[in-house]
Amino acid sequence: MVKFLDLKSQYDSIKPEIDAALQSVIDSSAFIGGEHVKSFEESFGDYIEAEHCIGVGNGTDAIEIVLEALGLPEGSEVIVPANSFIASSEAVSRCGFKPVFADCGPDYTLDVEDTRQRITSNTSAIMAVHLYGHPCDMAGLAQLAKENNLRLIEDSAQAHGARFRDRRVGALGDAGTFSFYPGKNLGAYGDGGAIVTNDAELAEKARMVANHGRVAKYDHVFEGRNSRLDGMQAAILNVKLRHLDAWLDARNRIASRYLQAFGGHEKLVLPEVSRDVYHAYHLFVVRVNEREQLAADLKAQGIQTGIHYPIALPKLKAYEHLGLADADFFANRTDTELLSLPIGEHLDDGAVDRVIGAVLKGLDK
Ligand SMILES: *Cc1c(COP(=O)(O)O)cnc(C)c1O
Repeated sequence: MVKFLDLKSQYDSIKPEIDAALQSVIDSSAFIGGEHVKSFEESFGDYIEAEHCIGVGNGTDAIEIVLEALGLPEGSEVIVPANSFIASSEAVSRCGFKPVFADCGPDYTLDVEDTRQRITSNTSAIMAVHLYGHPCDMAGLAQLAKENNLRLIEDSAQAHGARFRDRRVGALGDAGTFSFYPGKNLGAYGDGGAIVTNDAELAEKARMVANHGRVAKYDHVFEGRNSRLDGMQAAILNVKLRHLDAWLDARNRIASRYLQAFGGHEKLVLPEVSRDVYHAYHLFVVRVNEREQLAADLKAQGIQTGIHYPIALPKLKAYEHLGLADADFFANRTDTELLSLPIGEHLDDGAVDRVIGAVLKGLDK
């Protein structure tokens, strides 16, 4: 069996470190707040090369909190890619703003020119989603944001450790958000998320929004909410962060093998990778016409696959009211062809060989 995700084998590879970290949380009763959360915020901020890091409850909260902390004007439109997980656009609506979909290019991230076309007098922000772990064109988007006086947010839930021109994604715009959902490249053993920024004022506001709008215990200057990264998750993440770079390198090695093995195959469209990026390869997504057939062939050979995402955001029932289901978007046209192959440090060379062999055999049937 070649698993798509194998959290148990990852745990087995770092068991003594994880067990010790959990024991220390219990011994110190640092369940909410405390040393583990503080030290993770520091280490993750350093890792991302961001001045401020705020742990929150999950990646969706992180986006909502940033949107609220930015204090965008009422009626604001926020440009969101048409290909993403719904959290990216849902957070915009939840905050009372309007998500406006822009198309993605063949690297599956925001197309800068299409984003430009979506800007109106109500646009306040652009949400750059580094989908599948591939960084957006942050130079192009930053320029666009600057020219139009827009805030730039990076939904980096799939891109911990990815780089755009040698700089880690997350703090390249106004603020970045991360998810530590267990299956992400840096995952907790439950929910977790973080916000990073180099803007001290925004950091302070975000921390307050996440903590009931308080400045001190029982002193609240506005109504916020409760969104926390807890001590257990922070302790686990502290351990895992030390291994993240090695895990990302393993993902890159597997991706290189896939790219080489499948390169030029007429029935398979490989992901385009910009020369400006270090890809986090959260997902390795190919496009194939006969997707269901190939997925079934792989399954029959014990190889798990996934689909990210089977319905492009504009085509979801949730966004019917926007009337963009039939828009001529690359994202709308290709959602029936996307197939995610297994990738991750849990796969040894033999497993990668099996995936390659099974895909080539399936395609050549
Ligand atoms: C996972 C994910 C989120 C949401 O994170 P949660 O921690 O599950 O709330 C947001 N955006 C993208 C692109 C994601 O993949």
